[in-house]
Amino acid sequence: MRVVVTGGDLVTEQGPIPADLLLADGRVEAWLDRGSAVVADERVDAAGLLVFPGFIDPHVHSRDPGHTHKETFHHSTLGALCGGTTTVLEMPNAVPAVTDVATFEARRAAHAAHAWTDFGLWGMALGPANLDQIALLHGAGAVAVKFFWGYALDKETKGLVYNFAAAPPDSLLLPPENGEVLELFREVARYGGLLAAHCEDRHILARSAELLGHPITTYDDLLFARPAVAEATSIAVGAQFSLATGCRFHVVHMASAAGATVVREARAAGAAVTAETCPQYLTLTDADAERLGPAIKVYPPVRSQADQDALWAGIADATIGSVGSDHAPHLLEEKLRGFEDAPAGGLGVETLVPLMVDAMVRGRLSPSRLAEVLSAGTARLYGLWPRKGSLRPGSDADLTLVDPRGSARISNERMHALNPVTTWDGWELCGRVVASLLGGEPAMRDGEPVGPRRGRFVAARHEVPVG
Ligand SMILES: [Zn+2]
Repeated sequence: MRVVVTGGDLVTEQGPIPADLLLADGRVEAWLDRGSAVVADERVDAAGLLVFPGFIDPHVHSRDPGHTHKETFHHSTLGALCGGTTTVLEMPNAVPAVTDVATFEARRAAHAAHAWTDFGLWGMALGPANLDQIALLHGAGAVAVKFFWGYALDKETKGLVYNFAAAPPDSLLLPPENGEVLELFREVARYGGLLAAHCEDRHILARSAELLGHPITTYDDLLFARPAVAEATSIAVGAQFSLATGCRFHVVHMASAAGATVVREARAAGAAVTAETCPQYLTLTDADAERLGPAIKVYPPVRSQADQDALWAGIADATIGSVGSDHAPHLLEEKLRGFEDAPAGGLGVETLVPLMVDAMVRGRLSPSRLAEVLSAGTARLYGLWPRKGSLRPGSDADLTLVDPRGSARISNERMHALNPVTTWDGWELCGRVVASLLGGEPAMRDGEPVGPRRGRFVAARHEVPVG
């Protein structure tokens, strides 16, 4: 099948370039002068639109299998597609968690039957308990391994345990100590892999909760119990381990100015440290907590305006190289349990692109920078570039078309999630995601799917460092 996309501006590192794009057999075939006569099966009119390399959401928890009352891979990838994303990277902490290559292969097969977008898979790093699986997971095409620093794992269900102090110790795999974490960094470095971590120091969190002295009833209590120094400390330790081993270390969902400062300094010192943030940290602050209640609860928490400003500065100076949603759905009744008992996390996969497009139109970042943090930079980080994240000939023909002069409204009624309640319900946005193409064919228009479901698994290829 040959498709030509006409009249749009292709978003490149150097800025938008007016050109037509010829797609053939699922790949980008050629760039053409605008209005070139070419034989094609289908023409996509992109006049007045920005043509981005298909957007990638690297941080999706589809709850599937294990918690499919909260969300499923069908719903999350359908939401992703309808929001303007063409590839999702699925986190490993469904139940059972992806801690070995057999589970990885089973997850790959199960998700391939339900994928509305292309998808990659994360593996989970436990420390000594699955050090022997790191090479196998990378060999199977895992985009990275995730280390839930400070969390225990239930031996029986292989699910993460967040509050493990009360659980019987012999039912758990306790979190590894730092000596073992350093060993993990060394092992990931051997394969040129990427080690990503949830960074909040568990000892600081535990002592902060004790010092609070009572259950969390207000958002100020929650911020007291999870201070920014917990994030910054964890990042600093990871940065030192990265310097010592050469392991690429990625900070997911970075939420604080203090964290951004540590990442910036580590990068300046030559550490292979990268960082991600999420729309919740870029669009919300603690001032929204009264309005939203426990719906705002995510870990690490949404902090102050100064923290938000620092994260935007981090995107501008490339301290932050990737933006993901941290899509982590729960039931509405779970989120209504109050700040102490509500689980952390919320919807995000369908609003990631619209919120970032809005920021672009409002001048927070350029189209080129948006293409970097939502596509090219993310693809490079996770070993998917140039198959993904690129408009150059030979790349997968995944495109997202955006009207910068349009407008959009986020509403629960239009969400495709299993439990469609979003923090951003009712937000009026600048710019509009118009359409997506996946593998060279139209796949979404005006927030609804076009054609059949045809997402495929994509394997990461990480270059083993030389010497
Ligand atoms: Zn997450």
